[in-house]
Amino acid sequence: MNDTNCIFCKIIARSIPATIIAENDNIIVIKDIFPKATIHYLIIPKKHVQDIQSLHENDATLAGEMILMAKQLSKDLNGSQAFRLGVNSGADAGQKVFHLHFHFLAGKINLAEIG
Ligand code: AMP
Ligand code: ZN
Repeated sequence: MNDTNCIFCKIIARSIPATIIAENDNIIVIKDIFPKATIHYLIIPKKHVQDIQSLHENDATLAGEMILMAKQLSKDLNGSQAFRLGVNSGADAGQKVFHLHFHFLAGKINLAEIG
């Protein structure tokens, strides 16, 4: 159930390019095009969910998989890379792309803003 006007759905469908870091059946991880840290990835569910407020009870597994993907990225970077996970959920919190995503930030981080 993808949103045809959604930039992340287009990336998932390979109709626009992105640097893909990891992918499985339910999640894709891409590099953020405007990185706010030395390492700035976006952990994105393949299913179009607008934000955390739009998650349902039956998305609990998917939400858990997004966190476990952060663990896997940390492991793949150097065994146990320290990182920050952030999410802007709602326009008033700074969300600009309305397809849920976790910002994975590591290395030198610009803490002023994500998104
Ligand atoms: P947010 O403000 O939390 O919605 O964050 C959206 C993020 O998506 C920002 O950090 C943007 O730099 C990033 N972004 C927007 N378009 C693209 C794209 N085509 N490829 C990769 N990252 C993108
Ligand atoms: Zn989408």
